[in-house]
Amino acid sequence: MTKIRTRYAPSPTGRMHVGNLRSALYEFLIAKHDGGDFMLRIEDTDQERFVEEAVDIIYRTLEKTGLVHDEGPDKDGGYGPYVQSERMKTGIYMKYAKELIDKGEAYYCFCDKERLATLKTEVVEGKEISIYDKHCLSLSKEEVEANLAAGKPFVIRQNIPNEGTTTFHDELYGDITVENAELDDMILIKSDGYPTYNFANVVDDHTMNITHVVRGNEYLSSSPKYQRLYDAFGWQSPVYIHLPLITDENHKKLSKRSGHSSFEDLLEQGFVTEAVVNYIALLGWSPEDNREIFTLDELIKEFDYHRISKSPAVFDIVKLKWMNGEYIKAMDFDAFYEMAEPYLKAALKKDFDLKKIANMVKTRIEVFPDIAEHVDFFEELPEYSVEMYTHKKMKTNSETSLQVLKDMLPILEAQEDYSNDGLYQTLVKYVEEKGVKNGYVMWPIRTAVSGKQMTPAGATEIMEVLGKEESLRRIRKGIELLEQSV
Ligand code: GLU
Repeated sequence: MTKIRTRYAPSPTGRMHVGNLRSALYEFLIAKHDGGDFMLRIEDTDQERFVEEAVDIIYRTLEKTGLVHDEGPDKDGGYGPYVQSERMKTGIYMKYAKELIDKGEAYYCFCDKERLATLKTEVVEGKEISIYDKHCLSLSKEEVEANLAAGKPFVIRQNIPNEGTTTFHDELYGDITVENAELDDMILIKSDGYPTYNFANVVDDHTMNITHVVRGNEYLSSSPKYQRLYDAFGWQSPVYIHLPLITDENHKKLSKRSGHSSFEDLLEQGFVTEAVVNYIALLGWSPEDNREIFTLDELIKEFDYHRISKSPAVFDIVKLKWMNGEYIKAMDFDAFYEMAEPYLKAALKKDFDLKKIANMVKTRIEVFPDIAEHVDFFEELPEYSVEMYTHKKMKTNSETSLQVLKDMLPILEAQEDYSNDGLYQTLVKYVEEKGVKNGYVMWPIRTAVSGKQMTPAGATEIMEVLGKEESLRRIRKGIELLEQSV
């Protein structure tokens, strides 16, 4: 059996879109599931859209997500160069384009802008493209040679007959047959000498022995033209897997406007890399059971590309947040703290034991920015309503709360030990003396020291972090508030 070889072939034009990351992930998983090789190839033939920084983003993202490539520009595996602009310099694309010309499958075209502007146009996938009328196909060999000798600018076009049909196979979509008349004579080599993305992609996938190609289904419409190139060369095409579109909750294409369309956006919004990778794996693929949490190694083991679905994948940020929360809960504390610290520092300027606070929120947040709303009361006691002291289940109201706070104030003033344990023992002692339930005492104290209905920890843990002076100040404030109301 031939070794599986897949490639991630990004065009470095900007941030790494969730859809690109999904293609990379699936390519990686297909290769690794079968002990194959995963390769990185940089498709930079569109020099106008090239962004230098985007290349760094690609490397950073692959490294961060653990999609380690076996070969690429930085790791020679004998199939290089791995950057298309460098491959071009070896003359490989021109060589294959000329082979097609010799076979009658391609031709030189010398038409200038003015002539091209007069051609019929058609709207394909929202873009207006002109349909070339094969004008230059009729040039004689001598005319072509004279033009070339005179240095006339040219492109090389694929020669697609107007009759007949072309069929290609996709793993998800099955056999797709199109009328040749619908396929334009696309440019293979541009006037600047660069190959088009479409041509370089075919030449490279073949010459680099790629066995499986995974990409977004926006490329589906170009695939018959690829197939014709493979057939013209007498090459076997790789297995094609065109992935369903990723949409937002409104079934619109996931766009920049959604705010979470790229991997970097998601990291900036406080998502954990492993959770994002896990979630993206499920955007179009599902395991046999309903399991949802997978490490990358587990994905490698379970991933079977035959289980990829062709129905649109909805990017559900609510679900991703849930998943992220699960990853945060499972993280070891030091790793969690490292990520949480900047958010804690942004929310809390006073001198608190941030590790203790981090421990309180670890199981309560879904994404890191959630930290702020859980911890803000440490910094500043919020304005709160006296009604918060009334709690049916705890059997508390303003009067009982006032009594508890007044009883506890001198005890807590006298207390030296402001550790969680020390404070807890003191409060429980009072509970036992009064013969009441814990909540009867804890509720008003927690309300007074936090001013919040929901807190990430109990009364005594909060007081430990606030310290004696601030805890007492807040309890006195609670008494004042309650006295005004009863
Ligand atoms: N360079 C193309 C892109 O970035 C890759 C498409 C493919 O994988 O064939 O979209």
